[in-house]
Amino acid sequence: MYKVVLKATSLAHKIVEKVVVDGDVVVDATLGNGNDTLFLSSLTINGMVYSFEVQKSAVDRFNKIIDEEGIKNIKVINDGHQNMDLYIDKKVKAIMFNLGYLPGSDKTITTKSDTTLEAVQKGLKLLVPGGVMTIAVYVGHEEGQREAEDLLKEITELDSKHFSVMNINFINRKNAPFLLVIEKNDSYREDI
Ligand code: SAM
Repeated sequence: MYKVVLKATSLAHKIVEKVVVDGDVVVDATLGNGNDTLFLSSLTINGMVYSFEVQKSAVDRFNKIIDEEGIKNIKVINDGHQNMDLYIDKKVKAIMFNLGYLPGSDKTITTKSDTTLEAVQKGLKLLVPGGVMTIAVYVGHEEGQREAEDLLKEITELDSKHFSVMNINFINRKNAPFLLVIEKNDSYREDI
């Protein structure tokens, strides 16, 4: 059976794969175990994936995997996504956020409202017109609730002339992660 109602992370992949073409530069804002980074890497073999993660253990683990596999189109950065502008000097086609903590790891190391909002704003500047940002948001923990509220408040205010924003949410599942999708419109001008 072909399923169309998908969990936030799977739906994010479906959307991003429609937009990214080989040669594009893209960002995984939350490396974790690297599933999204490997997915992005497969879409742009001749491009580049910039992938951010604050946990050194996760970075080391993932660098070992890509070394062993001989994958060359991924740059893993052991720093917070709120600093992405320090590392990326090109426009990017897609940015994926998968918020919260790494399952099976330290639950206190989670994305946080302030730094997430800063990263989203910087990411929106980096997107090319026609580029897309996906944000999978988890509300099943306390910081996640706050982060979700703050994010919704902020991105609801984005000018609809320049950004198209959707909130895709299960309405019959309690505390299910939801997906925010932000597309930078072709009408976006750099001087805004
Ligand atoms: N996309 C990942 C995957 O495919 O496995 C899962 C990401 S997990 C839900 C969220 C990750 O964000 C955690 O590994 C956490 O350490 C990381 N994180 C927390 N704060 C961060 C920040 N400011 N910048 C980058 N990563 C951060």
